[in-house]
Amino acid sequence: MGIKFEELPNLSKTIIIFGAGVYGKKCLERLKAKDICADYFFLDNNTEKEGLDINGVRVYSFDSISQAVLTEAVIIIAKLVPWESMYLDLNNRGLEDRVYVYSGMELLEKVTKENYKLLNCKKRVSNNVLWFDYHVVEQCNLNCAGCIHFSCIAKEEYADVQMYRRNLEQIKKLLGKRAASVILLGGEPLLHPDLCSFFRATKEIMPWMQISLVTNGILLERMREDFWDALYENGVLIAVTKYPIKFQYESLFRIIENKIINYVINEEKGNKWMKLALNEGGNGDIQENYCNCSMANKCITLTKEGRLFTCPVPAHFHHFKDIFDTNIDYCSDDYIDIFTENDGDNVLSKLATPIPFCRFCKSGTLEKSEWKVTNKEKNEWMQ
Ligand code: SF4
Ligand code: SF4
Repeated sequence: MGIKFEELPNLSKTIIIFGAGVYGKKCLERLKAKDICADYFFLDNNTEKEGLDINGVRVYSFDSISQAVLTEAVIIIAKLVPWESMYLDLNNRGLEDRVYVYSGMELLEKVTKENYKLLNCKKRVSNNVLWFDYHVVEQCNLNCAGCIHFSCIAKEEYADVQMYRRNLEQIKKLLGKRAASVILLGGEPLLHPDLCSFFRATKEIMPWMQISLVTNGILLERMREDFWDALYENGVLIAVTKYPIKFQYESLFRIIENKIINYVINEEKGNKWMKLALNEGGNGDIQENYCNCSMANKCITLTKEGRLFTCPVPAHFHHFKDIFDTNIDYCSDDYIDIFTENDGDNVLSKLATPIPFCRFCKSGTLEKSEWKVTNKEKNEWMQ
């Protein structure tokens, strides 16, 4: 359970920030910006920091801090994972009752014996750089059952390059060169009649960015020469996903090689296909699902509205809602609005944090299933 910073004084008038590093300082800044009146202490295991004064707050070690302070305080662990040893330190001293963790968010999360491993999972380490997916087309020409992007049930829609530019400008403001890579996909991106304008816009706004194009490859042989020129000029990497369909992939790869374009193959193993297993009850464990999820903080998705999601599922869930009755839904806590956020570190930190939508995923993992073309049935996405 999370609590707001403002609720801390109800628990204790003494606040210990455990970890006098970057996150500790940020945590103190956040507390002071909210005018939270309390007696503050820093606690750190690094004895070289002992006695230092950080923004008016003194750093203590376990040996120098008073036992009375320790037992009455709320203790906030302020470090990105791993902080296992810090929690165990507190636990061994019988101080586990009022321990919270600060991960750069507005909420502090309560650490207990049961949940600390999940709170401390590697998925929750912020990435140093941002890479993100961007849909240039919503629909697809292959229509796989259970498509994670819901493209097989999406209405026809093509991204607008001006909107894309606006989003990129804002990402640049927030993260500069830490915005390292964009993956253009869909749906099937080759269906976009002006796909090359997205390559040019990217290189104009952020010349350092790596552009990748994820495609099922079916339309590649029919692409005109100017498409291949644009790939070459903008250093675009093609990632072709192989599906268990009758298609001459080998001749396609020879064509790409002849064009001297870099490519990778994302191979689906035989007929095995990973499908979502949504849980309409919405009673899944958010922390556990996020930590076990292969997409969390990896398949980061930026939508045309400028919403940044840690994964594609809630980002494209509106397609599902458009055709099926469901009580699954996303909310504003599931994404970061890049036009209201003004701190790039916060963006990276929020992406490394579980979202309410995770409660609708089963154990945060994908299930194995046979690949087939969609029948547009709800159960293709359900447990
Ligand atoms: S090819 Fe990819 S985008 Fe298209 S329906 Fe299949 S999984 Fe979805
Ligand atoms: S919403 Fe589901 S798919 Fe997305 S990060 Fe959470 S568990 Fe993973």
